[in-house]
Amino acid sequence: MSSIKYIFVTGGVTSSLGKGIVAASLAKLLQARGFSVTIQKFDPYLNIDPGTLNPYEHGECYVTDDGAETDLDLGHYERYLNIATSQSNNITTGRIYNNIISKERKGEFLGKTVQVIPHITDEIKRNFYLLGETEDYDFVITEIGGCVGDIESLPFIEAVRQAKWELGPENALVIHLTLIPYLKSAGELKTKPTQHSVKQLLESGIQPDILVCRTEYELPDDIRRKLALFCNVSIDSVIEAIDAETIYDVPLLMQKEQLDKIVLQKLRLTSKKDIDLTSWSGFLDKFKNPKHHISIGLIGKYVDLKDAYKSIAESFIHAGTHLDCKVNIVWIHSEDLEEHAIAPQLEGLDAILVAPGFGERGILGKIAAVKYAREQQVPFLGICLGMQMAVVEFARNVLGWADAASTEMDPNSTHPVISMMESQKKVVNKGGTMRLGAYDCTLVDGTNIKAAYGKTNIKERHRHRYEFNSDYLADFQRGGMQATGINPESNLVEVVEIPKHPWFVGVQYHPEYKSRVEAPHPLFVGFIKAAISYSLNKTLEEVNH
Ligand code: GLN
Repeated sequence: MSSIKYIFVTGGVTSSLGKGIVAASLAKLLQARGFSVTIQKFDPYLNIDPGTLNPYEHGECYVTDDGAETDLDLGHYERYLNIATSQSNNITTGRIYNNIISKERKGEFLGKTVQVIPHITDEIKRNFYLLGETEDYDFVITEIGGCVGDIESLPFIEAVRQAKWELGPENALVIHLTLIPYLKSAGELKTKPTQHSVKQLLESGIQPDILVCRTEYELPDDIRRKLALFCNVSIDSVIEAIDAETIYDVPLLMQKEQLDKIVLQKLRLTSKKDIDLTSWSGFLDKFKNPKHHISIGLIGKYVDLKDAYKSIAESFIHAGTHLDCKVNIVWIHSEDLEEHAIAPQLEGLDAILVAPGFGERGILGKIAAVKYAREQQVPFLGICLGMQMAVVEFARNVLGWADAASTEMDPNSTHPVISMMESQKKVVNKGGTMRLGAYDCTLVDGTNIKAAYGKTNIKERHRHRYEFNSDYLADFQRGGMQATGINPESNLVEVVEIPKHPWFVGVQYHPEYKSRVEAPHPLFVGFIKAAISYSLNKTLEEVNH
């Protein structure tokens, strides 16, 4: 039997309890004890991956180095653990069925009836174990999306039951995350929803080993005892997960509750070393005691759901903290911006970020925001669509091509300065077909981007179909916008800058996917540095007047 330990994390009572954060926090604690850990997410929905989902459905689509379009929880895993995840770390019901149906069409079942049990559950288990077979891990943590009791989760829960049985109690355990609501009128914390949720798990044949209880208030001993008694767990396996000031407090809160120790005890392991969370605690200390405060406008069309820009928001936290700076993100809906009335909306900002996105809606607002940043010399970062709109704005207002556009928005433009990549033209299917994942980029000396990274060759993740149309490159260079980062194989323009502007950078790639708590992204650090000096200069000017 393999020596890998498997931890399954299920959820009950409601969604949005933060299973991903709890899983990532436990992983962090185990990692800080010297173990090698990975996390995977199994989602019960039928989409093959979240790539085709509107961000309002499940928040941001996260992209891995190997070009998987995944659930945003993978972003948390990477940010907490400082590891790279891959295609194998996110599996959906859709993918499981797709695999089984293609096998069936190939005749691989040799005339057998193909059924949920055993074929679907076997395929789920095969995927539970896959990561552990390809790399050397001490722990594989598997987060099961959704709630127990959901019809669509049933095959996953059954597969967890089987896996737990096959692996044995020393090699696998189940952590159930649940909610202990506080009833204001009764002035009490209530355990009944948790009891019911655990009953539901028991009906599926799973006895959870550890309960992690989300709560607004501390769990008193009598509540812990009650939960232990009615859910058949030992009292030290009732873990309080109290609402935290920041998600980055959760590993320390879980450590205080001894979640890591109980896990090790149950799996008969001893720590590889004394737990070392120095750099994590150092980060939290800096995060909570900022010396600078700046405001950055984030212009996008999904701003009503902050999760749609999760990685960008977290990147600001990591890079800001590194610079002792609290970044206040001002969320601005691109449809609310109109060129003639833009100044009052953007005036107080120390920097402007135009976000990634797709389609026509809100595009004029994005272009107007770029124009404002360019003309007012406000530090600017455009990511993917944001970079493309910086190019369109420059073409329209500096080069004087009034109908310049991306062919995504205007296929008939006489100046298609952003156009569909050649390789995309024959693509018919929408799912998983963009230019995805990590590609090389070479940076030009003497530029803001090179100064930010401090090196020439970088590799960043992508998710797009359109690109800078290099037929116009010479015009742009003459007009004052430079291509300062190029893909060495295809010559695709990855970065544009305006050298006359103090800090104006557009990137075709997504730096936000590679920012980590303990390794802030250099481009965000560079951007925030520019914003801090803009803000200090502004204050100086005000004092001098
Ligand atoms: N819609 C643009 C493209 O496909 C930008 C994509 C993005 O911002 N991720 O190229």
